[in-house]
Amino acid sequence: MAGKGSSVTDPHDPTGDSDFHHSLRRNVRELCGRFPDAYWRGLEANRDYPEDFVSALTKAGYLASLIPEAYGGSGLGISEAALILEEINRSGGNAAACHAQMYIMGTLLRHGSDDQKRMYLPSLASGELRLQAFGVTEPTTGSDTTQLKTMAVRKGDRYVVNGQKVFISRAEHSDLLLLLVRTTPIEHVVKRGDGLSVLLVDLRRAIGHGITIRPIRTMMNHATTELFIEDLEVPVANLVGQEGNGLRYLLDGLNAERILIAAECVGDGRYFIERSRRYAGERVVFGRAIGQNQGIQFPIATAHIRIEAADLMRARAAQLYDLHRPCGAEANMAKFLAADASWEAANVAIQTFGGYGFTEEYDIERKFRETRLYQVAPVSTNLILSYVAEHVLGLPRSY
Ligand SMILES: Cc1cc2nc3c(=O)[nH]c(=O)nc-3n(C[C@H](O)[C@H](O)[C@H](O)COP(=O)(O)OP(=O)(O)OC[C@H]3O[C@@H](n4cnc5c(N)ncnc54)[C@H](O)[C@@H]3O)c2cc1C
Repeated sequence: MAGKGSSVTDPHDPTGDSDFHHSLRRNVRELCGRFPDAYWRGLEANRDYPEDFVSALTKAGYLASLIPEAYGGSGLGISEAALILEEINRSGGNAAACHAQMYIMGTLLRHGSDDQKRMYLPSLASGELRLQAFGVTEPTTGSDTTQLKTMAVRKGDRYVVNGQKVFISRAEHSDLLLLLVRTTPIEHVVKRGDGLSVLLVDLRRAIGHGITIRPIRTMMNHATTELFIEDLEVPVANLVGQEGNGLRYLLDGLNAERILIAAECVGDGRYFIERSRRYAGERVVFGRAIGQNQGIQFPIATAHIRIEAADLMRARAAQLYDLHRPCGAEANMAKFLAADASWEAANVAIQTFGGYGFTEEYDIERKFRETRLYQVAPVSTNLILSYVAEHVLGLPRSY
């Protein structure tokens, strides 16, 4: 995929989409067209990974869009990455199979050493290696990240890691894992967020030699897993940034994650609205198209309005991010609005399709299950409300 080149922003386009953005959308749409509903539906029964789709996306360079050109990527911004993920979900696919590389690669890019960047980024850009997995969540601590218990103890030029992680997605389909561990016991730190570190784990060596993976079957096809970590040895050279600063690095990447997930939700919403619009126009009951009834068309119109509003916040957050300006409030609000709007659109679609909405062959139920996740992960709606209450409105911290 070529870099941004000369992009012309259309002043009448409220999303700020430029000519380049329009052609990017067209190209991603064309690629996704080769992986229609039947492809995604076919993966469901055995919870198969969309390997062909991810390979095609990688080969076309889309997963390397945020990697600088100097390392073989296309050096695009979060605005462009968001459009790519939106189009995948809008087409009926599920970007969750591969979105993580886009938002976790930033940790390596911003905080990795020159050696680490030289060693990994070109291979990530070419698709030779995949960095699709990040291990934060633990079974006993959940959203309370600072309390995580996986411990890495330094012994000479290695860390020896012991602990457990849960809901670690795509670990079976990734070569590398960014692992958040505690390197200083919590009793010895001043602030609870101190003493955490990020390790880059080479899963090709670690599986069977310190990491055991157990898949977790969820309501959607998500390739999530549990990791049991026992005496895993990680070279000190694989520490990303400084020891003890891991939480800061994680927080640094959250705005990108929020914006990209918001874009996927906008894509889901547009999928549901387009399918509902089409079906409501075609399905005839009581001698007329069901879409002629306000009871059907008003909910579709409402869902459309909410998705478009969420997309404006998504575009604003992405613009600020690309200008290197603070965007925590906008990124969080975009994720909140888009996740709510896509969930509303999913409900509207299932209602519009009546009984057919529940059948596998119409795909609405599959997308309904997929978009539900974004009320909970990667961050739950409650924690976004807490963020806005505390950091935007200045209310007391609630936890
Ligand atoms: C399919 C899937 C894929 C995932 N992939 C990954 C991954 O790749 N890597 C990774 O590290 N994690 C991953 N996660 C984990 C995800 O980030 C967590 O599920 C999420 O952060 C919530 O943690 P929890 O499930 O332990 O819920 P808990 O923290 O136990 O929370 C349960 C509920 O209580 C609410 N709650 C908790 N505390 C508060 C509070 N103070 N105020 C108000 N409400 C509160 C939460 O909002 C939530 O609704 C994934 C999860 C799923 C389901």
